[in-house]
Amino acid sequence: MKTNPSRDWPLRHLTDLLQTSTLGVPKVQVDEAINRSELRILPFIYGSTLLLFVAYALIQAIFLREPGLPLLLGVAVFSLAALWVVWWMLAQNRFAPRHVGRLGAFLAIVVLINIQLRFYLTHDPKQAANLALFVFAVSVLFHATQWYLAMLLLAFLSLFQAFTWFVDGQDFRYYFVVLLASAGTGYIAHVGRVLAYRRAEMLRVLTQEREQELHRLNAEIKQFNQQLENMVAERTQALQDAYVRLERLDKTKTDFIAIASHEMLTPLTIINLNAQMFMGDEEIRQSTQYARWAQGIDKGVVRMQEVVDRMLDVAKIDSQSLDLHPAPLNLPFLIRQVVNRFRGAAAERSLTLSLGPMADLPEVEADAEAMNKVFYHLIMNGIKYTPDGGSLRVDGRSQTITHNGNTLPAIEIIVQDTGIGIAPDAQEFIFDKFYQTGEVTLHSSGRTKFKGGGSGLGLAIVRGIVEAHNGRVWVESPGLDEAACPGSRFHVLLPQRQPQQS
Ligand code: ADP
Repeated sequence: MKTNPSRDWPLRHLTDLLQTSTLGVPKVQVDEAINRSELRILPFIYGSTLLLFVAYALIQAIFLREPGLPLLLGVAVFSLAALWVVWWMLAQNRFAPRHVGRLGAFLAIVVLINIQLRFYLTHDPKQAANLALFVFAVSVLFHATQWYLAMLLLAFLSLFQAFTWFVDGQDFRYYFVVLLASAGTGYIAHVGRVLAYRRAEMLRVLTQEREQELHRLNAEIKQFNQQLENMVAERTQALQDAYVRLERLDKTKTDFIAIASHEMLTPLTIINLNAQMFMGDEEIRQSTQYARWAQGIDKGVVRMQEVVDRMLDVAKIDSQSLDLHPAPLNLPFLIRQVVNRFRGAAAERSLTLSLGPMADLPEVEADAEAMNKVFYHLIMNGIKYTPDGGSLRVDGRSQTITHNGNTLPAIEIIVQDTGIGIAPDAQEFIFDKFYQTGEVTLHSSGRTKFKGGGSGLGLAIVRGIVEAHNGRVWVESPGLDEAACPGSRFHVLLPQRQPQQS
């Protein structure tokens, strides 16, 4: 590898070391910091040098009665005035770090003038050489190497100048060696001092940078948090608005059901009454045509009555005003009665209705009429959503139920069919009022016809009644498939009647 011979020069090597080791901090930044510190110490270095000149001049003039006292004093005053101006400008922040070179040069000239005056006034080279040495010794305090070297040069020049005045060469050699020795040791002290200063300065810059970075990150995090909080607040508001709208909608629905069912009840009763009279009339009964029409009206009235009854039930459930009369109830017996009511309809569609062994099941404390509705809707749905030739089975078993943190003995009734099944995503919603899967307009109006039309209220009534008895109802089904018919299992869990209730 080719090496630059000038790089091997130890002084240069040391200087390079000072210039390059910056711990990753840009060199410009470190140099500027050093210049700034130079600005701070310059007045002290020059101040002490000039004070020495002044004191030296006064001692010589007063005690040694040297000539040229006024001139010496004049120079001293001029030097101190120059120093004061520099000091004042520094205090006023008139100097930027980049001015440090000019300032140094100005003060160096003041020092040079002082040394030259020593030469010409005293004609004593030793005194001038002493001053040159002193100037150099003080300059070790400089942070910038170029200023240290400049002062060294100044001292050497003054010494050579003094040499021309020396009578005795011995003295000159003595001063030259002293200056050389102090230049060496001074330089080492200077390097150590500058290295330490640079390192401290770099660490300060690094710490400052990290602090600034931390501040910036903190500010960003704060801003981000604020944005997040705003977003959460906005979303919460939107959700609250949506919730209020939904509640209002639900209330409108509930109000509509309550009002409509009550309003329909009176005309329905009138139609029913008239239909009964119509059918009871002898003349009508004798005409097959009229009798068929009358039966049609009666069938429609019964169907209408059912719909209105369901609407009334839902309105009561929503307003939590179900009129329940709980009493010890034998559920298997009640279920058998409901199943028997559907036997004819099931036979028409070749459906098998069966009951599992439930005779040993304990009683529940429940309202018989309400429970009748529960199993009526469940069994009717089973028949409605099972194609012809399928089967429906009701089973029962003992279970437990958790209510208000207490585990109680319970009875579980399972109504299972081999019907079309229910899609998983619909299973949660079928217990909501008016929820119907499939195309509502495609529904036929038959009560037990396959996929016969309904009001979408049956399961809402089932859930309302079961929950009013502190029970639970849910459905299990592999999914909706009208071809494969995976079937559905409706579970009704009701607390068993407690002994103290008897
Ligand atoms: P609907 O009067 O429409 O039968 P329900 O509240 O009784 O109203 O039932 C809601 C929906 O749940 C029905 O539209 C139907 O899609 C589905 N469903 C209820 N029972 C069954 C069942 N046994 N098999 C398949 N789907 C059913």
